Amino acid sequence: MKNVIVYPGSFDPVTYGHLDIIKRALAICDRLIVAVSSNPTENHLFSSKERVLLLKETTKGAKNVDVKEFDGLLINFLERKGAKIIIRGLRAVSDFEYEFQMVLTNRKLNEKIDTIFMMPTEKYFYLSSSLIKELATLGADISKYVPEFVEKKLKEKISYAKSQKKAF
Ligand code: ADP
Repeated sequence: MKNVIVYPGSFDPVTYGHLDIIKRALAICDRLIVAVSSNPTENHLFSSKERVLLLKETTKGAKNVDVKEFDGLLINFLERKGAKIIIRGLRAVSDFEYEFQMVLTNRKLNEKIDTIFMMPTEKYFYLSSSLIKELATLGADISKYVPEFVEKKLKEKISYAKSQKKAF
């Protein structure tokens, strides 16, 4: 039986921090499903379709990575895919409490599903999609933190958002 791992998140947008976790996850599974949350109550810069596209583009070299959109309960998504392991990235201590709560909640829904955590390389330890969006809005150089394709799409998105604001 194949060892399938699911890596869920918003990925708004994907950064080198996410890609670092993807690379580490691939070393311990046969197939990795990156599950992009399309929960409409969350406020995202990129639509779920765009976030999927950015991930597909940046992982296109990796054969055993699938990028899928999901809504509703993550546990149901894993059950549909026949997966038993969730992977999450762990950064500075601030991630811990929320993740701890999620693991216990998911375990109540299906105790056969477990979560494993991986730490990124040090230079991405403080990197988040929100930080990237903030830096890009302020015109900072983000090329060290996101692939070129993502940087380009982010700049387009931000300049479009700024032009829309001007119209009011
Ligand atoms: P979510 O809204 O689910 O937290 P994110 O896209 O912010 O979605 O994060 C998805 C997963 O990737 C989480 O497990 C998060 O901890 C991890 N992650 C995000 N950025 C990094 C990073 N720089 N290094 C390691 N893991 C990261």
